[in-house]
Amino acid sequence: MSAKSSVRTITEAARQIKVCREADVVVVGGGPGGIGSAITAARGGADTVLIERYSHLGGMATGGLINILPNLSDISGKQHIYGLNQEIIDRMDARGGAFYPKKKDWGTTDKKVVDYYRNTNMGNFYIRKDPNLGGQERVLYTAVVDPEILKDELNDMIQEAGVDLLLHSWGTRPIMEGGTVKGVFFESKSGRQAILGKVVIDATGDGDIFVEAGAEFDGSLDSKRRTAWLAFTTWVTGVDIQKADDFKASQPEKYAERMQELMKLGGYPHYMKGILKNQRNVIWYHSFQIKPEASDAKDVRELTRVDIRGRKRALITYEFMKKHVPGFENSFIMQTAPQLGLQGGRRVIGEYILTDKDMESDEVFEDTIVVLANNDNGEISAKHPTICVPYRCLVPKEVDGLLVACRAFSSTESVNQWFNIIPPCIAYGQAAGTAAAMSVSSGIQPRKVDYKALHKNLVNQGVNLPDIK
Ligand SMILES: Cc1cc2nc3c(=O)[nH]c(=O)nc-3n(C[C@H](O)[C@H](O)[C@H](O)COP(=O)(O)OP(=O)(O)OC[C@H]3O[C@@H](n4cnc5c(N)ncnc54)[C@H](O)[C@@H]3O)c2cc1C
Repeated sequence: MSAKSSVRTITEAARQIKVCREADVVVVGGGPGGIGSAITAARGGADTVLIERYSHLGGMATGGLINILPNLSDISGKQHIYGLNQEIIDRMDARGGAFYPKKKDWGTTDKKVVDYYRNTNMGNFYIRKDPNLGGQERVLYTAVVDPEILKDELNDMIQEAGVDLLLHSWGTRPIMEGGTVKGVFFESKSGRQAILGKVVIDATGDGDIFVEAGAEFDGSLDSKRRTAWLAFTTWVTGVDIQKADDFKASQPEKYAERMQELMKLGGYPHYMKGILKNQRNVIWYHSFQIKPEASDAKDVRELTRVDIRGRKRALITYEFMKKHVPGFENSFIMQTAPQLGLQGGRRVIGEYILTDKDMESDEVFEDTIVVLANNDNGEISAKHPTICVPYRCLVPKEVDGLLVACRAFSSTESVNQWFNIIPPCIAYGQAAGTAAAMSVSSGIQPRKVDYKALHKNLVNQGVNLPDIK
């Protein structure tokens, strides 16, 4: 069915909007970047409001069913990401909601141990080949978390920090005074309202706020990269995984034939086993696994199309597997992700743009806010196992009163694809929230925050940073 479109425009009448809150810091979006921002801004003494369009916090880590925090260590097993990331994992661990390789196993090449983790939930995320050791496999520090416990834990953390949380609230536009952001308009069941803030943090992932603020950005997407693909994620339970594995191993040709048939029908031929702690009956599908195509995640018709198609394909897969693959007889769809997955999109042009050159440099910036493991780039990773990210990647080049702390940080697409994942976004949030609170308390613009003071503040919070001059 083709959409009936129109080219007409209409003028919206100006009207008075209720200012429901005057805060120090307003964070828009409650995903990894947003929760990092809000918790640290509030802990830093700023009166902080967080608005999130859905009913839960966590963004893709919960609502997208992407419950993996990878690359917390480099390939040798040395941990680099600490700070709020580690605090969240510790809190999840205390509630039985986290799984990760034991510390003593990080970096091991012991084949028995490597195989143990490979065969556990989300296996491959715990293992990387080390080019420095002739491609031997080693165990990494990657954590997997339970999304339902995480939603509750993040609510607790946000409340403990004293953040004023508004769920079901969709940030629409910044309130501008010249080139400075002074707050946001948002829509909810309570109607259109405004919140004023001294600093606004765009943590929408898609950069909804910085675009409207007039910040320069790069929206180009390469259809060959996963940053351009939308994902529909499904968890299926009641699977006898051992029986399915036995069928696959004993009749590989028959299994391959059936998967071909499934693909022709539009289903997903691959899945990952276990979502947490070795559950032996749950599997994970996402739609990157079948002929991915670039989608414009800012186009509501495209979002609608991908959601309808993803759901259809999930059902085709489930019905086919149940009928044709031993082990799936008693399976059922446990959950489909409440939100479509995306890991790319617009990237703000900041005071610094992280590029491929930085992947091959060991430069420690004077405003480094996080050290990230550079694990997925073969020879480059071997020579440069880490990369420093400067605070300037969160500061839009021209617009004031605004920071960007999410996957839309200032970077080229080729770099963004590696460093826009959940742990870095939490870390960007931790830096942005800290800087926002500092900016408010000293009455200066975020771009003027003193790098040395920011460094000291982050180190005091347990962030692992190299010394700066
Ligand atoms: C299929 C797939 C697999 C992936 N695998 C992994 C993986 O294994 N590990 C990993 O770490 N990363 C993975 N990623 C990437 C990762 O999920 C994202 O890059 C990461 O979640 C980005 O965090 P964020 O805070 O920038 O954005 P998001 O997680 O998208 O969070 C943005 C939040 O803002 C809210 N929001 C958006 N717009 C508005 C608005 N206008 N007003 C109010 N609220 C708004 C959203 O509802 C959401 O809660 C994967 C992504 C996909 C799609």
